[in-house]
Amino acid sequence: MTIANVIVDVPASSINQTFDYTIPERFRDILQPGMRVIVPFGPRKVMGYVVSLADESSFDKLKELADVLDLTPILTPELLDLGKWLAEETLSLYITAYQAMLPQVLKANYKKELERLRQDSLSSELEAFFAGRDFVPYEELDNGHVRFSKVQKAIQDGDITVHYLVKSRVTKKYVTYLEPAREPHLLEEALQDMSDRAKKQQQLLTFFIEQPQEIKLKTVMKKFNTTRATINTLISKGLLRSFRQEVYRNPYAQTQFDRTEPLELTSEQHEAIKPVLHRIRDHAHEVFLLHGVTGSGKTEIYLQTIQEVIDRGEEAIVLVPEISLTPQMVNRFKARFGSNVAVLHSGLSQGEKYDEWRRVQQNEVQVVVGARSAVFAPFENLGIIIIDEEHETSYKQEDQPRYHARDVAIHRGDYHHCPVVLGSATPALESYARAHKGVYNLQTLSKRTNDKAMPDVHVVDMREELHAGNRTMFSRHLKESMEQRISRGEQVVLLLNRRGYSTFVMCRECGHVRECPHCDIALTFHKHSNQLRCHYCSYEEPVPMYCPMCSSDLIRFFGTGTQRIEEALTQLMPEVRLLRMDVDTTQRKGAHEKLLNQFANQEADILLGTQMIAKGLDFENVTLVGVLTADSMLNLPDFRASEKTFQLLTQVSGRAGRHDLPGEVIVQTYTPDHYSIELASRYDYWQFYQQEMKMRKRFQYPPYMFLSLVTISHENHVTAIQTAQQIAKQLWKYVRQDTVILGPTPSPIARVKDRYRYQCMIKYKHEPELRALINKIIRQFADDMRKRDLQISVDMQPYQLM
Ligand code: ADP
Ligand code: ZN
Ligand code: ZN
Repeated sequence: MTIANVIVDVPASSINQTFDYTIPERFRDILQPGMRVIVPFGPRKVMGYVVSLADESSFDKLKELADVLDLTPILTPELLDLGKWLAEETLSLYITAYQAMLPQVLKANYKKELERLRQDSLSSELEAFFAGRDFVPYEELDNGHVRFSKVQKAIQDGDITVHYLVKSRVTKKYVTYLEPAREPHLLEEALQDMSDRAKKQQQLLTFFIEQPQEIKLKTVMKKFNTTRATINTLISKGLLRSFRQEVYRNPYAQTQFDRTEPLELTSEQHEAIKPVLHRIRDHAHEVFLLHGVTGSGKTEIYLQTIQEVIDRGEEAIVLVPEISLTPQMVNRFKARFGSNVAVLHSGLSQGEKYDEWRRVQQNEVQVVVGARSAVFAPFENLGIIIIDEEHETSYKQEDQPRYHARDVAIHRGDYHHCPVVLGSATPALESYARAHKGVYNLQTLSKRTNDKAMPDVHVVDMREELHAGNRTMFSRHLKESMEQRISRGEQVVLLLNRRGYSTFVMCRECGHVRECPHCDIALTFHKHSNQLRCHYCSYEEPVPMYCPMCSSDLIRFFGTGTQRIEEALTQLMPEVRLLRMDVDTTQRKGAHEKLLNQFANQEADILLGTQMIAKGLDFENVTLVGVLTADSMLNLPDFRASEKTFQLLTQVSGRAGRHDLPGEVIVQTYTPDHYSIELASRYDYWQFYQQEMKMRKRFQYPPYMFLSLVTISHENHVTAIQTAQQIAKQLWKYVRQDTVILGPTPSPIARVKDRYRYQCMIKYKHEPELRALINKIIRQFADDMRKRDLQISVDMQPYQLM
């Protein structure tokens, strides 16, 4: 093959295609699809991904590619295809899709060097190339003294390796080991001959006679409280030998994991796992929805299916939401599978992430546990993909490429003929609807494994508090309960929804919330214009002075920050030890874990926080969970508001009384009768599902309809509106009868970074040509996008509607 088809790293829609380059002679037998190359592009040189090779091109006068960055592909053929699919599915650029699949380090500038890993058995050509050195700058390969194919072969054979020396100083870490340099009986002899004064040397030798194997130098020094000098003496006598070995940065190195064994499954678990194991054994793709209350043993099912996959020599991906990637969760996988697990999440440094990724790429692990992007883990023999808490919106990426990890997982599961397991106590409505229809295989776990009942949920009507003269944020019941628990030495978790901060308007007297007459969604308060507005249909009205329902003047903007709660709580209960956990207190690396550890060590009575405390935490001593304002989420201008409220309430409830102490949940609300609050307090998912489906049907929202969101932004207000109008008009012209175009309306955040933003929402049942249509429309604005900085972005599955 003489021609490479390359996707270049130039993020512009006009360049979203492959470019052909001729392959210089010296790269011909090594270049493979999935490798990165440097190519001339206009006046510059840019990085690109080789997606395929060819013998001819329809263009003449091709340029030559300048350099090859990888000696082994970093994208497998599957991932190359997946990237293409992803770009097309999400209307993103190919380059953006490929970049999303790889660790940051591989996108940065870096130098490379080759290292020889063996002292013997290199071919004479390579021997001459290394010329006695252990490390050789990669550029020396360009001298042409050694063939690339030789180097590539040596890498495959594990004789040499490539290091990427990233500018951001991501270098490798080494550890020095010590091992006996002679047979034990020879060490024995040396020991006999040794002078009696050399006590330390004797101890060391005795140790290596008894355990003739390698051990970390540091460990030895500590164990025998000895110095480097003593050890050097033994080395110089030829009795011991030291060598360096690369270690991967292991963010969990400090943690000791007691290995756990598979538990005897309950009959419910057994029923649920059976069909999944069948699919694994049959090499068949199927999507399972594992619906099980908190504590019903879903994780144990994940662990045992993964064990089956491992035993078969295949690999597993486990996705968990970023905020549940707590040590507690990771520990469970490490404890079962040990070093066979790589962990990928945003809390790791660039270097750590790269190391973990490489362990996957080099087949050193069979299990990845990670957040959203771990769905792209470069495994080649996937046996299962698991998505825990599958309803979490953090699985949707809100930047290009705007993909949902669930869709990617299912696509990969299909490719690998393996099952995909979606697990949740509160599945996304879309998922449950699919399971209900039989598209997914539904498995239900209805009981907790310890047979403990879910904690009792008390719903407190905050309107009554007001009538009783209590104007604080804490109901009398919550206050009493907190005092009681704390005096008994138990702990309390308080949850506040920070989202929805001061955005909706509610009457504190009767609980009335202003909603759009056309959309059944709370109106949003716009401070600048002092108007209430609907984000779906642009309906507007002035902010009322008095409640339209009860004429009270206690109508006000709703929402309170954690800081204000903290102040109020300190006033109310000055003695109490409080930890606050929100975006402000968890910015620094490790802060999150530190707070959790403090709380686990009972250094505080109350943990106050936002959503991030609702997930995955498991504290034995927590017996009370308080939700301060259950409504604040309910009234977001989002058709998923009820669903999110139900999910959150169910989830926090699971935090109380997981162990021996009985738990209680107190939910404060101004709308105790709302079905999402009422049904969550009874843990009735099925009723909630039915009720919510009715609403979705009535107001034509997913899962009955699909949504796509086109957002237009420009510095000039008029340009933004006009473009949005033109786009809406064009869409109307070509879509089907039953498709609706809402807008253009200003985006909920109407101006970001001095750019005005408008949006059109497309609501449709069936539009097979929609992507092509949108692409075609957008292309008409290509000039403006390039020259006048007009931006048009499309989200084919919008979640963030505010
Ligand atoms: P979930 O993931 O559904 O919240 P977990 O898998 O965390 O549930 O299980 C809850 C608790 O029950 C854990 O402490 C777990 O060790 C325990 N557990 C799970 N399965 C079993 C079982 N078959 N027998 C005994 N204990 C179990
Ligand atoms: Zn009122
Ligand atoms: Zn409306």
